[in-house]
Amino acid sequence: MTTSIAELKSQLDQIREAALRDIEQAATAEAAQDIHQKYMGKKGAISQILRQLGQLDAKDRPILGAAANEVKAAVVQALQQRQGQVGAAELNQQLEQERLDITLPGEKINAGRLHPLTQVAREIRDIFISMGFEVARGPDIETDFHNFTALNIPPHHPARDMHDTFYLPGQMLLRTHTSPVQIRTMLNQQPPVAIIAPGAVYRVDADVTHSPMFHQIEGLLVSEYISFGDLKGTLEALIHRFFGPEIPLRFRPSFFPFTEPSAEVDMGCPFCKTQGCRICSQSGYIEVMGCGMVHPNVLKNVNYDPEKYCGYAFGLGIERFAMIKYQINDIRLFYDNDIRFLQQF
Ligand SMILES: [Zn+2]
Repeated sequence: MTTSIAELKSQLDQIREAALRDIEQAATAEAAQDIHQKYMGKKGAISQILRQLGQLDAKDRPILGAAANEVKAAVVQALQQRQGQVGAAELNQQLEQERLDITLPGEKINAGRLHPLTQVAREIRDIFISMGFEVARGPDIETDFHNFTALNIPPHHPARDMHDTFYLPGQMLLRTHTSPVQIRTMLNQQPPVAIIAPGAVYRVDADVTHSPMFHQIEGLLVSEYISFGDLKGTLEALIHRFFGPEIPLRFRPSFFPFTEPSAEVDMGCPFCKTQGCRICSQSGYIEVMGCGMVHPNVLKNVNYDPEKYCGYAFGLGIERFAMIKYQINDIRLFYDNDIRFLQQF
């Protein structure tokens, strides 16, 4: 059986019409791809026609080939055009679904700031640096020797009761004050020594004014011919610059194992000007720090000659300074990370 060229050409025309109709109705890129397969693929309609080429007279074969190529080109062109339209429509639909409302207010990003304890610690630090002190640091986990024994607090000394802390294996503990930094510094350096030691300290204490972890700044000055008057002058300079120039100081005799004589320092209440108010419990004064002249035993423990050298030491709580300055009545507010509290500073 032979097939006439006229018949095949007529079939090609039908294929072209059918293809263009299908393309017209293709709604997605996927559908367009299927149409390509249906007409142009290996088993597609046009390939089927070309497969019958061999049955034609030799002179008719190029004519049908040319006609088939023409149909192919027309279908490809229509497909490309349709794919462009479908693609744009799909993109538009996607954009419609993901439409951004550029009139919506943006999300506000608050500027960060330093924690109030960091601010207070830095302010105190800068006051001492301006007076010639250097900043020294040491580990939070200390040996019993550095935290107690070298500071004239031997084992079983009753002063250890006030410094109950968290003990670790191997005679190690979480330091109860930053005084061990003084020991470490003196063991490594000959006088004169003038340092402050800021950092976290740990005690078994927890109420509205005590936290198991809090921050101290301790100071130490060891040289020749240092008197209690030097200590008073230094602490007065600190209080006057931190709380105000008119504030009186009061030194009350006290006891610390590592200083002799020792004193508690009260400052005039900055809120009532020593008249008495709720904040100072009507006393007119607020206890702010401890201090004293370095005990000769401490100097001996670090191999300083107590006949030649002397000095003073003091310690203050950073939280306490911050609580007085900003009238904060609960120490736990510093560690709650409540942004409403923190952003006031
Ligand atoms: Zn007061």
